[in-house]
Amino acid sequence: MIWGEKMIPRNQIKKNEKPIDIKEGIYERFPVTKQAFVTVSFKDVGEIGYNHWMNKMMENMIRRMLGGEEGRRQEDNALDMGANALNLLIGQYGFPNFQFLKWDPLFVPEGMSKQPVKLPKDVLSSMIKKASHLYGADLVGITDLDPKWIYSRDLFKPFKITEGMKPKETEDAFLIPRKINKAIVMAVAMDDEMIETSPLVDASTATSLGYSRMGIAAVSLAEYIRGMGYQAIPCMNDTAISIPLAVQAGLGQLGRLGLLITPEFGPNVRLLKVLTDMPLENDHPIDFGIPEFCENCHLCAEHCPSGSISFEGQNYEGVCENNNPGVKKWYIYAEKCLRLWQTNGASCANCISVCPFTKGFESMQCFECKKCETKTGCELQVNTHLRAKYGYLQVETWGDKPRVIRPRRRGL
Ligand code: SF4
Ligand code: SF4
Repeated sequence: MIWGEKMIPRNQIKKNEKPIDIKEGIYERFPVTKQAFVTVSFKDVGEIGYNHWMNKMMENMIRRMLGGEEGRRQEDNALDMGANALNLLIGQYGFPNFQFLKWDPLFVPEGMSKQPVKLPKDVLSSMIKKASHLYGADLVGITDLDPKWIYSRDLFKPFKITEGMKPKETEDAFLIPRKINKAIVMAVAMDDEMIETSPLVDASTATSLGYSRMGIAAVSLAEYIRGMGYQAIPCMNDTAISIPLAVQAGLGQLGRLGLLITPEFGPNVRLLKVLTDMPLENDHPIDFGIPEFCENCHLCAEHCPSGSISFEGQNYEGVCENNNPGVKKWYIYAEKCLRLWQTNGASCANCISVCPFTKGFESMQCFECKKCETKTGCELQVNTHLRAKYGYLQVETWGDKPRVIRPRRRGL
């Protein structure tokens, strides 16, 4: 048994008939150049880039380290740098067709990559999920690759959907064939005790380790798929927007904090995906009551030091230049968040840390939810039961706070 195979079976969670509410005519594919990482980088150094915003964060990291602040010492930052090393080697948070995130086979010989293994879809899907868990994914789901979630452009050139046979990069564009029509979406859980130290450096270390594990899982699964004779595009943050794909693949629902909330780990995960032409069976989107609960719970907004998270209801409009209007959700003021990371001298994860679904949802919190007024019970209670049944929730002594159990992982 590989641990991840114990993820809560999605057929035991209510199916979500309308997981994403889009206003057609307003929504357009999103360009990477509108992300806060890029716009803040440009404001800071006058150049297009993804990581220039980090310069100020590093300056403050060193300043606070030399000031001898607890939780920000040299040894804390050194641990973070070690955790981030594989992320930087593999794909630097994710750039298309870059370093080990290449779109062609890395080591698989042509005798395998051009020889598709012919098996029924359900068998291939099951093999893909086992391999994903073996390569370090804690959660995995499969969905159609809806082109609307592919970025319209990267930093310097567009993504184009083509009728071609192979994904490739030209001087002018990244070409993704329509036949690459499946997304395998994976989540890796972060260390909750380290995340709870946010905004100190240990929380950044948990994030960095998450990125390194993302890279390993993406590259390993892509090579496996190529060895099975199909095409694969390994992605970290790049190429397509992870959260809507994860929602469609049944990994969770979007919360007020602007992140995916999963039944097993809450928002305490990082997402990655592999796009492929392998014939696979889709999973279905799930509804375990997140938008209704977030409506009345404002913990993330209350604990956000930058004021980036809304206390208001969901809307289709967005709140700043980094948002993409047309989807009903809670929009995040992303530049304010990133500016806070810069002055903090480390990334922040307060919103993830305080979310009840990171800590292990407890029944008393049900009183914060509107649905309880109906006295009919709800999907949240079902999910609490499922978390306990599948070993994700543990109550050591009656009356103690429940806590999320860290899975024992086999493989990477
Ligand atoms: S990471 Fe920190 S600053 Fe950014 S939205 Fe979350 S709590 Fe706010
Ligand atoms: S802290 Fe509360 S409002 Fe924020 S995402 Fe979590 S459940 Fe939703």
